[in-house]
Amino acid sequence: MRNILQMIPGGAPVVVGLALAGLLLSVVPCRPQMWLYPLVRQAVQMKVNYQTRDMLAKTTPHFIIRYTEKDADTIDMVAQAAEAAYQPVTAALNYAPGGKTLILVYPDRQAMKQAYGWAGDAGAMGFYWGGIIQILSPKAWMKDSQSVAEFMVNGPIVHEYTHLVLDYMTRGNYTRWFTEGLAQYVEYRVNGYEWVTADNGLGGKLYTMAELDGNFDGLPNQALAYRQSLALVRYIDEVHGDAKLNQVLGSLKAGVKVDKAIEKALGMDYGTYESLVNAWAKGNMKQYVRAAN
Ligand SMILES: [Zn+2]
Repeated sequence: MRNILQMIPGGAPVVVGLALAGLLLSVVPCRPQMWLYPLVRQAVQMKVNYQTRDMLAKTTPHFIIRYTEKDADTIDMVAQAAEAAYQPVTAALNYAPGGKTLILVYPDRQAMKQAYGWAGDAGAMGFYWGGIIQILSPKAWMKDSQSVAEFMVNGPIVHEYTHLVLDYMTRGNYTRWFTEGLAQYVEYRVNGYEWVTADNGLGGKLYTMAELDGNFDGLPNQALAYRQSLALVRYIDEVHGDAKLNQVLGSLKAGVKVDKAIEKALGMDYGTYESLVNAWAKGNMKQYVRAAN
């Protein structure tokens, strides 16, 4: 997800609103960005909600799914997978956002590329941005586009919904690697899915925390940046326990920055954390194995 404040779709009124909000900030105590963030996200949601009002819609207890005629026969499957993701994701983060989450289903990659704030790579199946989940039609990537089990395990819903719940819970107070690490970790725990490639082994040269913190989306080996993100979150939970990961999440919710939240929960400095995660990951994370012909 790009910085939401940089990505308000064409909204002069929103910019004026933000300017007024900026004036108000001088009288609002502490963490002004966390106060402003939900308002900006809400403005984006209202705009997208209005612009997609003519699409077909299916409503479930926790989601509103909008889609085109082409996906009418897969939408029950998407709805089932979304509801199946709700409980494990909200339980893992110990937080449930209020209201119903909007999911937009695009019929093909072209339509998805033109959509609001799409910044995912060409191969991606989904994207979270501004309080909304956007996914590619299951027909565009699934072998059997009616297989609920395949869509649940290989589909993007658990991953994107984790991004959304973290975003609501912390009001935008996280880093790119942290949200990608957490989304992959919940996906790994719920579905057993891991993104392992020939290029993202953790035994070789790795990115530093400064690189991951500073320019996550600009790092040339994205598969490695994602893999390291998973290791960084998985290490907290598997080595130090659920309570420590929950403590980190609680600190983010309270406005503490990611590095300080981790240092406090684990009782070690950020540099030690980096070294310990890298050493642990070499011995404990799955490595790529070339498939036999
Ligand atoms: Zn992601």
